[in-house]
Amino acid sequence: MARRRYELPGDLGPASLEARRVFYRETMDYRAAERWMARPPQGDRAYALILGRHSGIYPRRFRSLKNVPLIVDDARGPRDLRPFLTKYLPEGVYYDRNVYASLAEARRAGIDYAHAWRSRYFLGQELAFDLDPENLDCPIHGDIADKMRRGQGLSFCDWEFEEVRRQAAELHDELSRRWRRLQVVYSGRGFHIHVFDEDGFRLSRRDRTTIAQRVARRYAIDEWVTSGEMRLIRLPYSLHGMVSRIVIPVDRSRIERFRYDDPRARPRGLHP
Ligand SMILES: [Zn+2]
Repeated sequence: MARRRYELPGDLGPASLEARRVFYRETMDYRAAERWMARPPQGDRAYALILGRHSGIYPRRFRSLKNVPLIVDDARGPRDLRPFLTKYLPEGVYYDRNVYASLAEARRAGIDYAHAWRSRYFLGQELAFDLDPENLDCPIHGDIADKMRRGQGLSFCDWEFEEVRRQAAELHDELSRRWRRLQVVYSGRGFHIHVFDEDGFRLSRRDRTTIAQRVARRYAIDEWVTSGEMRLIRLPYSLHGMVSRIVIPVDRSRIERFRYDDPRARPRGLHP
């Protein structure tokens, strides 16, 4: 059997620094990102940029920062990120799902994450589910252990994409029996489901762990995102620099037919 090339399907691939520069200067819909972050509860949010950990592509002068999340905790919203994005040209842009009454006060009080949950400066955490293709057992490429062993933890194929998309629709519908304000987002590789109900922000860590374990039995989610240990999630409307796709919300009615080459997800001028 001829071994099929297994990296990324279609024309997905890492974005060059020039492509990132054009995207963050001219293409990114900062206003839409601003609206995304303006949902209640109102509070302070932190952002994180990853320069080149997975792609190995980063501005040389920031070599020492290439692998560590660069935290921006004084931005009022995504528009304030613009100078950082056009300077650092990150491969990925994230926000912290924790919401604080005041980040400055929390910082002054020396509150770390483990203690944030009981702090009066902490308002809650957005509940989220991260469906990733590498978590699937693929009939061609095997399970996650096989993929990691071959150094292909970030690769995916069309079968995996279609299966993770089917799961996104199914999990959305299952979650909609309990939650009312759900948003599905194409993450560049898989899908995220965000829960914006107030009750979701107030869940305890224990409740989150229970939900994560239950959902992981049937869906290809990263449990530690739902449980809250991993707080960062990709900022919608930013660029996923490993695949050169825009992270975008997808209406429930369009999920089944959504493709990674959807025109809304393809940055203009990326492949001239
Ligand atoms: Zn596969």
